[in-house]
Amino acid sequence: MPESIGMNITQSTKPLPEGVKLPIYMDNHATTPLDPRVLEAMMPYLTGIFGNAASRNHSFGWEAEQAVDKAREQIAKLIGCTAKEIIFTSGATESDNLAIKGVAEMYKEKGNHIITQVTEHKAVLDTCKKLEKQGFRVTYLPVQADGLVDIEDLKRAIDDQTILVSIMYASNEIGVIQPVKEIGALCHEKGIIFHTDAVQAVGKIPVNVQTDNIDLLSLSGHKLYGPKGVGALYVRRRNPRVQLTEQINGGGHERGMRSGTLNVPGIVGLGAACEICMNEMEAEGKREFELREYLKNKLETALDYTQVNGNMEHHLPGNLNMSFVYVEGESLLMGINDIAVSSGSACTSATLEPSYVLKALGLGDDVAHSSIRFGLGRFNTKAEVDYVADKLIDVVQKLRELSPLYEMVKEGIDLTKIEWAAH
Ligand SMILES: *Cc1c(COP(=O)(O)O)cnc(C)c1O
Repeated sequence: MPESIGMNITQSTKPLPEGVKLPIYMDNHATTPLDPRVLEAMMPYLTGIFGNAASRNHSFGWEAEQAVDKAREQIAKLIGCTAKEIIFTSGATESDNLAIKGVAEMYKEKGNHIITQVTEHKAVLDTCKKLEKQGFRVTYLPVQADGLVDIEDLKRAIDDQTILVSIMYASNEIGVIQPVKEIGALCHEKGIIFHTDAVQAVGKIPVNVQTDNIDLLSLSGHKLYGPKGVGALYVRRRNPRVQLTEQINGGGHERGMRSGTLNVPGIVGLGAACEICMNEMEAEGKREFELREYLKNKLETALDYTQVNGNMEHHLPGNLNMSFVYVEGESLLMGINDIAVSSGSACTSATLEPSYVLKALGLGDDVAHSSIRFGLGRFNTKAEVDYVADKLIDVVQKLRELSPLYEMVKEGIDLTKIEWAAH
């Protein structure tokens, strides 16, 4: 794209609306900012209260341990388990690894088969791939066009060697919420352990490990307005009691499942973040849902050839994944460079790969490339949504004016029937 066109698109002539500061952050599935109230809760543990929670001989250690215990309660309350069932980790990537590798090793005498789905986070997929190299069999279930897994597919995939099912609660990319309760019930009926990566769900929608039949659940601090580098794994202690082979050795912290000195300030922050979510989830979910619908309607009204990706009924309130067909993805992103969102492309080394999640829904490469993931969060305002919508409408319209494909479609030419000349 010539430089001059990019400049035209990016430059805004309109004054900024009241209260809007650029760049706008609307990528809350990638990470969330730290809530100032969480920082406040953490501060004492970054300064004066610095003890090691494993020090049993003095008050420095006891104070730290007390703070960790409180955080355990706060997290447990949010997901409906007991404090003893929470294992602290460095984040959800580690939680996913511990859950999947830990079960695979512990139950390998019972069977060698694991079931997951193609649209999982890489923390699950790459862990499963590693286990395949070690001799485990892994079934990667496809998803339907709306992003939901088909329970019948899952039923058919289960065999007498299946020891673990790992299906995410909600998608970080398309926001769809999987039928976790049914999956868990099926697993329990068959005596299979059920793990869910619930990073995007916990704190955003009600999650309860009892009613949802979950045995292992991964969560992360920095996806719910807590600090980075801290997370947790819920490990069920009864009906059934789940055992894990530890992946990190040394000192036997966290009931032997995860050694290492606890990140006390991080854990305090994670606990505080969970309590805030617990108290504000309902109102905040409603607010984000309304903002999301407002954004979606505004874009759909102004632009033709858009498509929303993922089932919108079973959907996170703050997520919108939308394709702007007949727009070149890279130009689109360049045009909206004062807005932080994610695109349907994953930058892997030099090439621009279309998102494997969108491809799994059946989207073509070009449509996947023209997709934008909006991740609305706690600190996004209506004024920001208006700015983002107006900007996107403007850029998409300008790019389409330059698009021969869009021109042809408008003239009624069926693009699928065209024979392109080979170069
Ligand atoms: C962010 C994310 C992870 C990884 O969490 P970290 O704490 O950053 O390691 C795993 N799964 C999902 C669905 C995520 O969104």
